[in-house]
Amino acid sequence: MPDVNSASPFESKTCPDCGSPMRIKQSPRGFFLGCTKYPKCRRALTLSAAEQKEIRK
Ligand SMILES: [Zn+2]
Repeated sequence: MPDVNSASPFESKTCPDCGSPMRIKQSPRGFFLGCTKYPKCRRALTLSAAEQKEIRK
């Protein structure tokens, strides 16, 4: 049985620009990591296909 309360490993990543936590966001083209300081910081990180698959689980 999966532990639904465990934090996503992707959300432990921090923004390379300002050091703030990154949050998983969804766009029409898929998931990506966006800086939580958005719109002040517009840094976004793309996720690999394997990582996107992991999120959708
Ligand atoms: Zn940032």
